[in-house]
Amino acid sequence: MKQDKTLPPEEIERQYDYMRRVREWNREGLKACVLTFGCQQNEADSEKLAGMAEKMGYTLTETPADADLIVVNTCAVREHAELKALSVTGQFKHLKEKKKSLLIALCGCMVSQEHRKDGIRKSYPYVDLVFGTSRLYAFPELLFDCLLTRRRSFCLDAGDEGNIPEGLPSARKSKSRAWLSIMYGCNNFCTYCVVPYVRGRERSRRREAILSEAKELLETGCREITLLGQNVNSYGKDLYDGYDFADLLREIASLEGDFLVRFMTSHPKDASEKLIDTIAENAKIAKAFHLPLQSGSNAILAAMNRRYTRERYLSLVEYMRKKMPDIALSTDIIVGFPGESEDDFEKTLSLVREVKFDNIYSFLYSKRKGTPAASSPDQIDEKVKGERFQRLLAVQDEIARQKSASLAGRIETILVEGRSKTDDTRLTGRTESNRLVHFIGEDGLIDRKVRVRIDRGEPHALYGTLLDKP
Ligand code: SAH
Ligand code: SF4
Repeated sequence: MKQDKTLPPEEIERQYDYMRRVREWNREGLKACVLTFGCQQNEADSEKLAGMAEKMGYTLTETPADADLIVVNTCAVREHAELKALSVTGQFKHLKEKKKSLLIALCGCMVSQEHRKDGIRKSYPYVDLVFGTSRLYAFPELLFDCLLTRRRSFCLDAGDEGNIPEGLPSARKSKSRAWLSIMYGCNNFCTYCVVPYVRGRERSRRREAILSEAKELLETGCREITLLGQNVNSYGKDLYDGYDFADLLREIASLEGDFLVRFMTSHPKDASEKLIDTIAENAKIAKAFHLPLQSGSNAILAAMNRRYTRERYLSLVEYMRKKMPDIALSTDIIVGFPGESEDDFEKTLSLVREVKFDNIYSFLYSKRKGTPAASSPDQIDEKVKGERFQRLLAVQDEIARQKSASLAGRIETILVEGRSKTDDTRLTGRTESNRLVHFIGEDGLIDRKVRVRIDRGEPHALYGTLLDKP
């Protein structure tokens, strides 16, 4: 049955009321620090947490030691991400010893797992507030309760996972680029993945809400909108008859203004020719496609429950390149999934050589508690995983090196993001195809579009010369 899963507006009003009450309760001049681990969805959620913190009277800071409230938004997709969040949280113990009034909150995917609850309760007694992804909107109420009672609060209940909060404030990090969540959750249950367990079932935002947020972003100077969902191709299946992701993309691209739309992530089993045609036909949709492959072996794809084959993946790539010869392709690959033989891994390498991706995000398989693959008896030895990982990197590095070198001499329009993290004499921005470009320029160009001539390409970045100012 089609169902609108928007949270009742009264619930959001109640939270605004709590934001006001926290502001009145607190003394002035308090600071909040929101730290984010994980994917773009978490970054988007953190902007909401920061937005709520601002409405509660906190000024935002990036330095935990200056903060009166620290919020750690965690990730659970790989063990490494969990360990990092826990180790960072561990470092806050001494901050709390120095400043007794400091409040520490843990939220997001890691703490949405029931089995984490006791560990955090016992080993992190200085953490005051813990809430799962389904309770993000209730942050003001939970925080107010903590302030009032000075009791620890654990709110992990994912029972009403379906509710989509509309109208929460957001403190966006960039003026020119914005995340726009179009749906939450995932129904796919890939056998390695924890996301469906920590973010619940798929639910789409109402299209009117998405379009009005997009318009508002454009009116306030945004030049690039990235639509977010775990599998954007499923957008609308739970809502509108016939109105799908391609329709939404086309409608957003038809809004007025000079901007680009991006999206992530697509699932190969659902990526349609209609979607590819829509991208090809609309100048405002970036010619870049992130299409997670995971493995080039049909046996492993089946064991992962991915529900497509190597052949289907290759035919999608062929269709995309027929329609858009210059499209930039990126992908995710998992190395060392249980049961992956040398022959399976070679199939991944051969597909990588054949497609020549512009960029690959490769991951060592990480066991996730509660997922089917974690209990497989065919786990791959860590050393073998590591060697395969290095081989994949070497193959891709050579492809990326050749691709980048071939771009020298091209003129690219880029949206300037800020100072380069490795060389502060240079500015950094991305081309439409999502390639990072570094060039010398002034701070005044940040958040603007400029033309740059590419001088040279290294595997993971391009270097260019500024041609003109906007
Ligand atoms: N919904 C998106 C992204 C999910 S998580 C999608 O389906 O593409 C992002 C990436 O993390 C996945 O594409 C996968 O490559 C990787 N990943 C997920 N679970 C993992 C695990 N248990 N071990 C290693 N990598 C994993
Ligand atoms: Fe995880 Fe698969 Fe869903 Fe992506 S599609 S979030 S990999 S279960």
